[in-house]
Amino acid sequence: MLKPTKATSALLVAVAAAVGFAAGPATSSASATSSQYSLATQTLPDGNKVIARWNPCQTITYRVNAGLAGNTAARRLAAVNDVKRAFARASAVSGMKFRYAGGTSQVPTNTSSSTWYGRQTSAEIVVAWASQTTSGKKSTLLGRSSRGGYVAGTGGYAFKYWKAGSAPWTGVSGRGFVVLNAAQNSKFRPGFGSGSTRGELLMHEIGHAVGLNHVSSTSQVMYPTILSRSVAAYSTGDRLGLQRLGAANSCIVTPGFVWNDLS
Ligand SMILES: [Zn+2]
Repeated sequence: MLKPTKATSALLVAVAAAVGFAAGPATSSASATSSQYSLATQTLPDGNKVIARWNPCQTITYRVNAGLAGNTAARRLAAVNDVKRAFARASAVSGMKFRYAGGTSQVPTNTSSSTWYGRQTSAEIVVAWASQTTSGKKSTLLGRSSRGGYVAGTGGYAFKYWKAGSAPWTGVSGRGFVVLNAAQNSKFRPGFGSGSTRGELLMHEIGHAVGLNHVSSTSQVMYPTILSRSVAAYSTGDRLGLQRLGAANSCIVTPGFVWNDLS
């Protein structure tokens, strides 16, 4: 039996802001890895490799586009509530503060003329159900599955780095997304608990949005495939990773010209 799959990797987008000299867009992948968790990293223009973190001292707002999350208003409301509960779980472990800012009709996607994060001005993170067969509801962020079709979901962040005067380069994540494939809604039981649940899918993709990469341990939420025996909550490694990304670590004071605070 085919298991629902999640995204093959987090989308890593790095853009240089305008102070100092601007380096080109950069992408990089994991290090800071234990067998139980893996933190996304970015390499700054001076060669310094840093963990791709948000400022854990800011409030991160999120909006939800649940228009394709269910075929009744009650089912869509239940989906929004699962999103809220998943963020609450991420907050409880990481100490990061998330605030629901309401609904949106936006589906994060890149276009030929602009990036998802360039147009995401209503909340720091947008969570949206997408349909790859419906005009206006598609997302280029949703990748193809190795089994054909599209993955069940994807999550990622945008990271900017800057340099002011003689200060060293600094980088911080400031926008994120979670895109879920509405065509696979039926593979995920609403709510949380063991097995393939929508709650775990959301916890996994939110993990990407805040800077967790995949791990090979099947006992972690960040394992790349949801299994019938999947865990119901962030597990030991997930929790260690979230703690390293979160409020236990230092604030990253972020100028408004880098990321406009939307809270
Ligand atoms: Zn994933």
